[in-house]
Amino acid sequence: TKFSDLNLDKKVLTAVEETGYETPTPIQAGAIPPALEGRDVLGIAQTGTGKTASFTLPMITALKRGRARARMPRSLVLAPTRELAAQVAENFDAYAKYTKLTKALLIGGVSFKEQDALIDRGVDVLIATPGRLLDHFERGKLILSDVKIMVVDEADRMLDMGFIPDIERIFGLTPFTRQTLFFSATMAPEIERITNTFLSNPAKIEV
Ligand code: AMP
Repeated sequence: TKFSDLNLDKKVLTAVEETGYETPTPIQAGAIPPALEGRDVLGIAQTGTGKTASFTLPMITALKRGRARARMPRSLVLAPTRELAAQVAENFDAYAKYTKLTKALLIGGVSFKEQDALIDRGVDVLIATPGRLLDHFERGKLILSDVKIMVVDEADRMLDMGFIPDIERIFGLTPFTRQTLFFSATMAPEIERITNTFLSNPAKIEV
């Protein structure tokens, strides 16, 4: 498979080519086609396999048309740590550089004021740690009813850190009709339970 065979948006493809990647990794080749078809995806993959691009590239392609309204992000990426969330944000910026899509990074250690201003303006993609996202929600600053795509990255680490109740709560705040892209390095029973509850007939890709 080549990236150009994957039906990605042309602007996304140009940005990918500029990173110098030659061929999709197995998780990318496996997850991008069903994600672009709008299916839920369950990706079982470790860090270093290229999984970040396997959800950001189809997400950018899907969101390219349309605009975010104030306080209503169109997609959500949840990561267990600040560092991981920041890495996802960096990847997003690189792959979305030829689009007009906007993002906000919601992590602890940054003032709410700055993050509020971005949310108020309207962002296409919200990249967040679960606790910080819920903080914003509780403050009444965030409406999640327009979320079309929700990504959970490194669910096994979320489990280790005690974030599963937060994740379940956030799932419940987004529309049933959303598309879910869910990634975990392992399938612990608790992770299995979450995926059975919140994913709908997912394409399962194990690398
Ligand atoms: P990730 O698993 O998403 O953290 O990615 C691990 C590393 O692989 C990152 O440094 C990416 O920039 C790189 N990478 C992602 N996709 C590809 C690809 N198709 N070819 C070469 N490197 C890649």
